[in-house]
Amino acid sequence: MNYLVLGNWKSNGDQKALTAFLAEFSPVNRALIDGYRTGIAVPYHLIQAGDFGSAWVGAQNVSAFPPGAYTGEITGGMLSELGTQFGLVGHSERRHLMGETVEQTRAKLENLQQSGIYPILCVGETLDERNQGRLHEVLLAQLAALDIFTKDSSFAVAYEPVWAIGTGVAATPADVADAHRFLRETLAERGFGHVPLMYGGSVKPANAAELAAIDDVHGFLVGGASLKAGSFGEIDRAF
Ligand code: 13P
Repeated sequence: MNYLVLGNWKSNGDQKALTAFLAEFSPVNRALIDGYRTGIAVPYHLIQAGDFGSAWVGAQNVSAFPPGAYTGEITGGMLSELGTQFGLVGHSERRHLMGETVEQTRAKLENLQQSGIYPILCVGETLDERNQGRLHEVLLAQLAALDIFTKDSSFAVAYEPVWAIGTGVAATPADVADAHRFLRETLAERGFGHVPLMYGGSVKPANAAELAAIDDVHGFLVGGASLKAGSFGEIDRAF
């Protein structure tokens, strides 16, 4: 099983911030141990803007289209040429603010895979969906995009409940354990029992150890707390 501690800088950061971050950040030697990865999904313009050392550098999005007349789109091949090692697909901000559909997430996963970039599908429910008892239904609909993969494919799934993102209040360990158990069982039924399951949503140094101890939590996707080398380093050491 892989363990992944990945940051998502979203539309934050500039050259100065990245340089300062990389000067201070030292990932736990996990990158040297098979199966452990620490990394950061930076905005596109920072992918080549520093020496990430043993950490992975990632993208937060990718084109759903092949190369061609798609103005402004960045393809998997372009990301690969930049040295991108992993890519996020279906982040809730893209689903809810940009209207990204399951069909688009499927095409994006495929584009990353074909470009040799490790894909991470983000899934998660809104508070309304949870309150309506639709958690499993929503997750199953989002997981449909995984049907492009085979049993040998390498990818990860990140569970990010929308109501826990950027709020400072993470899901409770019980909620995380429930959702991850459901995801684990669902993935295993499809031959994806090997796939790491990450949790994201207000992960911070104060709650990282408790969340890391939950069965079926194999990593974190960290937003705000990944912007500072100190807090991201503490979270990195939680596993
Ligand atoms: P926060 O850690 O800021 O809640 O963001 C989580 C997230 O969206 C990571 O992709």
